[in-house]
Amino acid sequence: MFIPLSSPDITEKEIEAVIGVLRSRFLALGPQMKAFEQQVATLAGRRFGIAVNSGTSGLHLLVRALGVGEGDEVITTPFSFIASSNCILFERARPVFVDIDPQTLNIDPGLIEKAITPRTRVILPVHVFGQPADMDSIMEIAQRYGLKVIEDACEAIGAQYRGRPAGSFGDGAVFAFYPNKQITTGEGGVVVTDDEEVACLCRSMRNQGRGEGGGWLDHERLGFNYRLDELSCALGLAQLQRLPEILAKRAAVAEAYNLMLKDVPGVIRPYISPDVEMSWFVYVIRLDEKISRERVMTLLKQRGVECKPYFTPIHLQPFYRNLFGFREGDFPVTERVSRSTLALPFFTGLGEEQVAYVVQCLKEAIEESL
Ligand SMILES: *Cc1c(COP(=O)(O)O)cnc(C)c1O
Repeated sequence: MFIPLSSPDITEKEIEAVIGVLRSRFLALGPQMKAFEQQVATLAGRRFGIAVNSGTSGLHLLVRALGVGEGDEVITTPFSFIASSNCILFERARPVFVDIDPQTLNIDPGLIEKAITPRTRVILPVHVFGQPADMDSIMEIAQRYGLKVIEDACEAIGAQYRGRPAGSFGDGAVFAFYPNKQITTGEGGVVVTDDEEVACLCRSMRNQGRGEGGGWLDHERLGFNYRLDELSCALGLAQLQRLPEILAKRAAVAEAYNLMLKDVPGVIRPYISPDVEMSWFVYVIRLDEKISRERVMTLLKQRGVECKPYFTPIHLQPFYRNLFGFREGDFPVTERVSRSTLALPFFTGLGEEQVAYVVQCLKEAIEESL
């Protein structure tokens, strides 16, 4: 028995779509990309979409397009995948971390104002695990202080906050499509925005700084090669068509876990705010502090159940400690949560029997780890 942490949901439709691109021999900057970025933009209620070769690339482009540079400060969360903070370092700006809400695990808007200084330019919330951050509070603060907002929606495609799609709030947002995400392009991401200038800048910078309508060897600004190829975009289009089905299946798997874990001592199930509609990215439980998480993970892996601690606080990564002098204790909620989290196998095709097996193994592992 082996149950992986994640597994992409690929059907014949996706395979046919990719083969179709190969047969067309049109492999880059073509119709698949145009259609894919337009459909992602529409899903997020946005005017423009710019396909890129990773979520990280997308975040980098938005940070640059919004003019963040050396000495500027960006307020963000330390409880995230490292890319949401690295994109700030790429431009020699400074990530200013704000601790999280212990329930939603998203940035705590009540702590943001204290972190604002004259150098603050942007607030960069992350919709952690597919649960949108408290965007009304964040947008209100941003407006009051004249700050820009970048939504890291890489884990939240299709999620909603108070009836509006994740990715529709900030000056720009990024979705990501690595194979462990809800839908995948292999590698890939899409930037969305309503701001035409930001869209043009992102489009140019993803393509070596080329201008709209300019020649292949005319470069208007410093750019990168962050392009997403046609095969990936075709795969993304086929996945996007199935997004409602995929999200519904993932919600059903989460519900199965919720039911079976209801009375398991020592397990805290994910908290979901009544303000949001989840797009389930991962299923992350928290273990009581009396339980040795290390031991539980070892026992689960012995039984073929993959699992991971999600996330390790960004501020405690060695190079962040070295660069900024962060220490244990700086962001106590993030650190306490990080010590207790455990991501269980979670993907569209996970059957009820497998969920039952994971839960049974978890119960036994916990009993042996008290
Ligand atoms: C997946 C993810 C990204 C982007 O990751 P890539 O591997 O570069 O596509 C960014 N932020 C968060 C929070 C993520 O989960």
